[in-house]
Amino acid sequence: MSDENKQITGQAMGHNGIISYEVDVDDNQVKDLKILQHSETSGIFNQVIDKLKQRIIDGQSFDVDAISGATVMTQALLDSAKDAVAQADVKLTPVPQTNTAHETKTLKTDVLIIGGGEAGLVAGCRALTLGQKVTLVEKNGYLGGATILNGSNVTGTGSNVAAKLFGRGTDSPDQLAQDVARESKHSNDPELTDLMVHNIGPAIDFVSDFAGLAYQKAQTQTVEHSVERQIELPTASSYEFIQKVSQAFTDHGGEIILGARVEQLIRNQKGEVNGAVAEAQNATLNIKARSVVLAAGGHGANTKMRGAESKGIDYYGPMTSTGDAYSFNGDLNLKTRNLDWYKVYPHGVEVEPGIAKLTTYASKKATDMGAIYVNTQGNRIVDESSAYTNFRDAILAQPDKVAFMLMDERTWKQVYDLLILHDFTAKEIKKFFDDKDKLPIFTKGSLTDVAQAAGVDPDQLAKTVATYQADVKAGKDSQFGRDAEYLHAYEGDTYYLVEQRGRFATTLGGYVTDRKTLELLDTQDQPVANYYGAGEIIGGANGHDSMPSMMNTWGISSGYVAGAQASQNADQRKAAGDDDTSIVALVGTNASKSYNRKLLHSMQHLFGKEVDFEVCEIKDLPMFNEDLAADEPAAVKALAAKVAAADGVVIGVPEYDHAVPASLKSALEWLSSVEHPFTDKAVMIVGTSLGIQGTVRAQMNLRQILDAPGVNAKVLPGNEFMLPQASNKFDDHDHLTDANSENFLKSCFDKFLAFIKQDDADKVTA
Ligand SMILES: Cc1cc2nc3c(=O)[nH]c(=O)nc-3n(C[C@H](O)[C@H](O)[C@H](O)COP(=O)(O)OP(=O)(O)OC[C@H]3O[C@@H](n4cnc5c(N)ncnc54)[C@H](O)[C@@H]3O)c2cc1C
Repeated sequence: MSDENKQITGQAMGHNGIISYEVDVDDNQVKDLKILQHSETSGIFNQVIDKLKQRIIDGQSFDVDAISGATVMTQALLDSAKDAVAQADVKLTPVPQTNTAHETKTLKTDVLIIGGGEAGLVAGCRALTLGQKVTLVEKNGYLGGATILNGSNVTGTGSNVAAKLFGRGTDSPDQLAQDVARESKHSNDPELTDLMVHNIGPAIDFVSDFAGLAYQKAQTQTVEHSVERQIELPTASSYEFIQKVSQAFTDHGGEIILGARVEQLIRNQKGEVNGAVAEAQNATLNIKARSVVLAAGGHGANTKMRGAESKGIDYYGPMTSTGDAYSFNGDLNLKTRNLDWYKVYPHGVEVEPGIAKLTTYASKKATDMGAIYVNTQGNRIVDESSAYTNFRDAILAQPDKVAFMLMDERTWKQVYDLLILHDFTAKEIKKFFDDKDKLPIFTKGSLTDVAQAAGVDPDQLAKTVATYQADVKAGKDSQFGRDAEYLHAYEGDTYYLVEQRGRFATTLGGYVTDRKTLELLDTQDQPVANYYGAGEIIGGANGHDSMPSMMNTWGISSGYVAGAQASQNADQRKAAGDDDTSIVALVGTNASKSYNRKLLHSMQHLFGKEVDFEVCEIKDLPMFNEDLAADEPAAVKALAAKVAAADGVVIGVPEYDHAVPASLKSALEWLSSVEHPFTDKAVMIVGTSLGIQGTVRAQMNLRQILDAPGVNAKVLPGNEFMLPQASNKFDDHDHLTDANSENFLKSCFDKFLAFIKQDDADKVTA
């Protein structure tokens, strides 16, 4: 180490509190970023911090991009460390960044998965094992979505894993289906529930084998399930699930693209889904796929989508559950159900407005040890050992929708340990007690003190506790018939009162699918070809109220089925020899009568069965004007997207005054100003004219324009298709009438397809 070695410490304000760090510098170069302490969600933090560190070290700068989906915390670290390093008189020499210009790339895969939570990862793993090339895109800079926040608890019904843990014959898919129907008050879709309960067993065995997961009995077997069937991972965290399954996925050749948000689907003229367009840092990715699985999670964080049911109930799920698909599915007219159904829990505490952490395990422990729930009047409100839905409904039935959990010191100690185990920090918990203005209320003291601090009637609370203590002594709950196993007397004089309110993290409604294949259905109940759904984005399997562990059961089982169905569909498309090449053909004029339009329609007729061939107009684009570029017209955006997503573009160019028409030049100016969809795009030029020269000059002119730096297209060399004397070359259906011309056009187009394929191969090997 040189004399100039320095360890610079600092503190940044993260998402959940202070992050203490150390930057190691040697000879004015950043060597390491060490995190000394933090209170962020570990599953997310662990995934992003190494990436951030790498960006800093590679760039020798703190002016690097924050990690998407975790921008608050990573930007805070960058800003703070930049200041700290500057104050320590360290002069970094940033590494010049190469090629940060925005690129458009086309990728091809068999199965594209949108979303890197449990449903997407399981779907991806299944499709991989069935022999597909699989690409998974995730908008965040880390994997896991809502999944990473849960305790990994799932049902093992029908699996060999569960048979080993609970014995055979104790449970069955039908029994699980009955429990789901009963607990959701028959609001579930029975056929979808059927798919879930029959596939969770094989899915658990599959993913356990594939990723080396060692499920064990869940610590908490909740009363909603009629038998013991809940299992969890040794760490009781889905972070372990995400880490191991994603590792196995990539080990088996799956491709994961992080920080790539799907904003649009690629569809052919028949409306079939053939891939998606994802926006990544510095790149637009056109990902062509034979099958697409939508596993983009819930929409709880999208306040605009919230319905009446969520009124007065806080959201504590991830802020990235924004329901993007409801925008990018656009005019597919997909059928939805119950978008305003939420899974409302009675447990959880806010760590910042609108964001809370789950306290289910801690609350369950407290009530097992005898804690009671009281309202502001100081009365008990529920049998505390019953299903959580009863607590929830009892809390929501209070005029102020608030209740309080009363504990003694002995119980609090256990609750505290479980809070710490489930991602709370000691500082966070202390703050609840210290900051009297902060909700929810946490208070400690004598019975009178805690009642007064929480605004609960102290006299009535004292009477309630006295009645409860007498009930415990008698071994019988005179008020709510609580199971004697959970009647435990309060010990000592110190009490803890913790406020309880309804909260939700999970949405229960979503898209509707075919109940067997999980293909997404449109409003006419027709499946959208090549498009499958899995996980929280699909509503119905658990109805209005999912039992504990059932969202994971749905996510994993539906991913397992969707992966297989998407794979089978990809195989069928391969066997049918479908060429998934897509061609966009631009009519190079705004005139309503055009022989070049006829020429492109004749090509559509000739080649439309072989490839997806769409004729597009430029007549709706306004005249290019740089003044308008800041607010790009919608028609330009739409055309740019089509061009960007196409494998190749054919331009039918008329000749006006020895050059291309002004309208075509204007369209190309639009398509090379704000966006550059022609970059590296294969283009074929064709043209027809009334005279004998067949657009020769316009074609030369167009080649020159397409070669301009802002356009940068790859034009098919040679193969100049020029059709003279257009007026007698087409029939009434715009089919070519001249066999020689048709044969020449076919041979040019074959060469164009070969040119596209060669170009794709170059891109893959580049
Ligand atoms: C705090 C909390 C506790 C929970 N506890 C439990 C529990 O104990 N038991 C239980 O069964 N369930 C529980 N759940 C519910 C369960 O976690 C979810 O229902 C389940 O994980 C959803 O899985 P998923 O794969 O469908 O979605 P997610 O895990 O949310 O994954 C979806 C992914 O898609 C990505 N995405 C979204 N839009 C795009 C886009 N446009 N482009 C690219 N990627 C995109 C998201 O970023 C996300 O990573 C809990 C949920 C929360 C939030």
